[in-house]
Amino acid sequence: MIDDIKVTRHITERYFKEFSKHTENDVAIAGAGPAGLVASRYLAEKGYNVAIFERKLSPGGGMWGGGMGYPVVVVQEESVQELKKIGVKTTDVGDGYYTADSIECVSKLLSAAIDAGARLFNLVTVEDVLYEYDKVNGFVINSSAIEVAGLHVDPITIRAKACIDATGHDAEVCNIVNRKVGSLETDSGGIAGEKSMCAEIGEKTVVENTQEVFPGLWITGMCANAVIGAPRMGPIFGGMLLSGKRVAELIDKKLSE
Ligand SMILES: Cc1cc2nc3c(=O)[nH]c(=O)nc-3n(C[C@H](O)[C@H](O)[C@H](O)COP(=O)(O)OP(=O)(O)OC[C@H]3O[C@@H](n4cnc5c(N)ncnc54)[C@H](O)[C@@H]3O)c2cc1C
Repeated sequence: MIDDIKVTRHITERYFKEFSKHTENDVAIAGAGPAGLVASRYLAEKGYNVAIFERKLSPGGGMWGGGMGYPVVVVQEESVQELKKIGVKTTDVGDGYYTADSIECVSKLLSAAIDAGARLFNLVTVEDVLYEYDKVNGFVINSSAIEVAGLHVDPITIRAKACIDATGHDAEVCNIVNRKVGSLETDSGGIAGEKSMCAEIGEKTVVENTQEVFPGLWITGMCANAVIGAPRMGPIFGGMLLSGKRVAELIDKKLSE
């Protein structure tokens, strides 16, 4: 016999036990697109306590749809290993280009991050930062359902030693910090804005632009190019994977000091 009340209790007890463990984190990530997922996996593999907060029901960001909804992504020679090492089947199509099924990519990025120990909370929106002692020390979060309904319900807060803005084109966390806390430590002193398509440049700069932009706050993925002011690159995803790896390396170095 199945007792509906037991089902309810098991869901709520497990969720809140998990959530409670992630009120204090080593690393908190806003956004579960490819960059945030790769970062979470590398950091969790190093033994860090990592939480990812994703606004949508389905994590994976813009990678599910490949290009224009055709579920295929292209990666280049430098980044194909990032897919192969998590078991994604890639096809060498010559001249240093590889294709992969975007749905397989997202499924395996998710599975690898979770297996490494990262904890993903979906339907949770990062709406502000915790700013104490001149540093970003965590995220202020709310239920995405409350955000969609436009209800005036106060959010709650989690702490982290390092926070990552992996929210893609909109660079949502950086925009909040720039508006409410203080100027970002970028050449423009703020958010320069994403430039028009050029994969050749965008794929390089997305890795170079991955950095700490305010004490306690790092940028990765499309957010990095949007903040620093570099081109978008469309459905070639290698740079996102390498940027996620890079931000994990930078944070590991900082937290190990
Ligand atoms: C709907 C969509 C359409 C896109 N279309 C194009 C395109 O036409 N051309 C192009 O060059 N690139 C496009 N991109 C981006 C492209 O997919 C990126 O190159 C790549 O997905 C970026 O990876 P990322 O990990 O940096 O961020 P994304 O894949 O964009 O993932 C960011 C994640 O952060 C989540 N998020 C955002 N704000 C918050 C918040 N405040 N709290 C919690 N979670 C948050 C989002 O729901 C998303 O899952 C699109 C992305 C999306 C999401």
